[in-house]
Amino acid sequence: MHLIIAEKNIVAERIAAFLAGKQKVQTKRDGVATEYTFGDTIVMGLRGHVVELDFTKGYSNWRSEEHPPRSLIHADIEKHPTEKKIVALMQKHARKADRVTIATDFDTEGELIGMEAFELVRAVNKNVSVDRARFSAITKDEITKAIDEAQSIDFNLAKAGETRQVIDLVWGASLTRFLSIAAHRGSDSILSVGRVQSPTLAMIVDREKEIEAFVPEKYWMLSLAAKKGKEELSFRHAHGRFTIKSEADAAFAGTKDPLTVTEVITGKKTDKAPTPLDTTALIVGAGRLGLSAASAMNRAEDLYMRGFISYPRTDNTVYPKSLNLRQHLKMFAGGEFERDANMVLANMRGSPTRGKKETTDHPPVYPTSKGTRQEIGDDATWKLYEFIVRRFFATLSPDAEWKTLKVNMTAAAEPYTITGGRLTVPGWRAVYPYSKAEETVLPEFTVGEKLTLADKLCEEKETQPPARYSQSRLIQRMEELGLGTKSTRHEVISKLIGRKYIEGNPMKPTIVGRAVTESLEQFAGTITAPTMTNTLEEHMEEIAAGTKTMNAVLTESKTMLSSIFDDLEANKEAIGQDLMDRTIEGQTVGPCPVCGKPLRIRRAGSSQFIGCSGYPDCTFNTSLPPATWGNAVRMDEVCPIHQLNHVQLLRKGAPAWKIGCPLCSHIQTNAEAFRMLPGMTDAGIEKLNKVHIYAISELAGMSSDELMRRLSIARPEAEQMIADAENVLALLRKRTELKKFISAHVAPRRGRGHSKVSNAFFSKGIVDVAGLSKAKMSDMTSSGLSEAEAETLLSEARKVVNIAKMKEYGVPTVTLKKYVAAGCEDPAVFVAANPAGLALATGASVTTICKHQKIVAEKIGVTPAEAVSKASFDEGVATLTPLGIEPEMLASLGFAGVYSCDLLKKANIEKLARQTGIDKEILSDLKSKAKMVCGK
Ligand SMILES: [Zn+2]
Ligand SMILES: [Zn+2]
Repeated sequence: MHLIIAEKNIVAERIAAFLAGKQKVQTKRDGVATEYTFGDTIVMGLRGHVVELDFTKGYSNWRSEEHPPRSLIHADIEKHPTEKKIVALMQKHARKADRVTIATDFDTEGELIGMEAFELVRAVNKNVSVDRARFSAITKDEITKAIDEAQSIDFNLAKAGETRQVIDLVWGASLTRFLSIAAHRGSDSILSVGRVQSPTLAMIVDREKEIEAFVPEKYWMLSLAAKKGKEELSFRHAHGRFTIKSEADAAFAGTKDPLTVTEVITGKKTDKAPTPLDTTALIVGAGRLGLSAASAMNRAEDLYMRGFISYPRTDNTVYPKSLNLRQHLKMFAGGEFERDANMVLANMRGSPTRGKKETTDHPPVYPTSKGTRQEIGDDATWKLYEFIVRRFFATLSPDAEWKTLKVNMTAAAEPYTITGGRLTVPGWRAVYPYSKAEETVLPEFTVGEKLTLADKLCEEKETQPPARYSQSRLIQRMEELGLGTKSTRHEVISKLIGRKYIEGNPMKPTIVGRAVTESLEQFAGTITAPTMTNTLEEHMEEIAAGTKTMNAVLTESKTMLSSIFDDLEANKEAIGQDLMDRTIEGQTVGPCPVCGKPLRIRRAGSSQFIGCSGYPDCTFNTSLPPATWGNAVRMDEVCPIHQLNHVQLLRKGAPAWKIGCPLCSHIQTNAEAFRMLPGMTDAGIEKLNKVHIYAISELAGMSSDELMRRLSIARPEAEQMIADAENVLALLRKRTELKKFISAHVAPRRGRGHSKVSNAFFSKGIVDVAGLSKAKMSDMTSSGLSEAEAETLLSEARKVVNIAKMKEYGVPTVTLKKYVAAGCEDPAVFVAANPAGLALATGASVTTICKHQKIVAEKIGVTPAEAVSKASFDEGVATLTPLGIEPEMLASLGFAGVYSCDLLKKANIEKLARQTGIDKEILSDLKSKAKMVCGK
């Protein structure tokens, strides 16, 4: 049996379809593991890496004393399967196979994935022959050829990939841990560091610093408008930029009639066709189409796996001789690009253009099959495909040709010039609309010709700072510096964005990104400089070439990292402090309105608020929603009234919750409460805010002297205001209680939140639980409750009110709880209950019960139930013991006044049954037993 292992399922499916020919392919799916069988062949796909590297046990604990960050440099590393189902399926078939073909992607990563598969196959079948199919396009021809001409695995290349994996794991983990611990960061805000990531971030930070340090310089540009017949043409001064104002002014003054043409120069310019696409050029082109680097690579990979383009990870910019270019142009017949393809075929250049880099692994990126808009799918992917197609066309088209014209003239003594160009041979430009070529067609001129001055202009301009990096520009720069590989560069950028080190496009560093970079630059500059990482990159290439061993390079990397740790550990305190000082800026939102010291976003557990750094001297603070709604972070926007940075809550997978200016938001949330004060107006609220009273609680808690001073008002007025505020505050507290009560007893329903119900109650004057206990049914049902819900709520409210009353009357809480449990929370019910029954039900002493009943009865103005003395109760209950009555039944009898054998003997069974709810027969039985036990 022949087992073919592809890198992904979608590729496996295509390979099976190509190789099966007319045979039927059987598909067997088990979760993520799928196999395609035809004849004696099984094709299956991996999910990229099916094993992962990790440190051995004991290294996962960051705070471990035994394994500090430095120990990770020499820690042992293991491989764990991550896709158990796929590994199991692969090994099941490998046991029975007599040929295994590794058909993973053809690059370092693919070779490593292939080697991982090889090791898993070897583990279960020592003798099977394993070969390697290499292809650059997933088309029938390429695949068939690759399987027929399978070679062996390139273990050196795979080892190079594995070395990179190990080094990146060790560097990333050890440095990230060190820095995060030094800066006292929690697990939700670690400071990540990486071998390629950190130098890349440093480039972005450095560019930002250049921009900040940039001092613009003024310069002046002169131009004139000249009339030639009816046409008006714009000439610019031949001097170009004037950097000295007086010189510009003099030239401007000297610009006057007569205008005389002094020279007419015609020429020809060749406009070279672009070179074939490598990964970087693909990302740059996609960037112009509005795609981010990561999005472009994802789409390109998708196009590759579906057979539309060749492998998109390539450094090659020269088409291999074996590629039949004509045949690929003919492929477009009958499709969207037919006309353009035919044009290229008719005018094809002698040999295609070629770039500087030539490698033998993959061809440059080119279209491998014709796709329609419908097949390709979404608009952005189609645009990318079209770009690849048109670039392919352009590399096979002739160069474009321009006819150029330059006209020089004098305006009195000042030299002016104009240039024009006309596209005479469109060449590649006819099929490639991505780089603009603007034609400026000038009329004919003759030397000595006179023109008329229509207008003149002296423009003041400023030099511009260098531009921030766009993603594609950064990737080009990374390539120039040898940072990362064609496969990883776009992923590094995505990581920097994901870790909130950079933002925007073009990209700029965040405060944290900048802090980490500047701290590292200061204390361990080798991490942020590109030199070391690109040295390692070169050495990995040497592993691939077989001139260095994996062990040698790993040892070298360990030495480098150890020396970095020497620097880091010597400065641990300083680095931690430095990082905290630099990142605190990100927590600072602006000046405190009360004392002017910086306000900071603060966190305590899940609660977060904005507090004054002058605490405890200044107690100003505003609350924020808890962190469960998202972590509060500062935004760039600043409130024009309060000079405070806006704040937003960031939560994974949800759009940010913009709070805006924290003080504006604080004022707004408290305004409603202020408006509840009698006679309060918006102007009045503003007056309070001006003297830094933002919340009703602040007003209520203020001394009248302080309020008199702040508002310059008389004492009675101040006292009245404070009293009003206290009332409002009390009312608000009741409301909060009512809201809590409602949410405890009414289940939420769609469209009827607890706030909605409680707001409806407020509007009907029901503001607290006591009010609720007396509410009318109609008021409750019209607030959105069903009758059943209203009844429950009503009875619960009454219960609460009654309990509060009993407490108020003087029944101690502990005993009260027992009465409530016995169903006696209503004062009227309580005082009427038989004390003996209550004593039996609650276990409280009968004397205490009688005392409580007397107190409560007095308060509500009724006569309590007849008292029972302790002696008669104790003696009576003792006479019932021999009957063995269950405690519950005993209590029921007690409530009916029967708590002794004698009383039971005398009881009227009919009546007792009604009072207690106990079955008549049971009662008769008890009565006869009582007669026997207690005599006549
Ligand atoms: Zn303050
Ligand atoms: Zn504001």
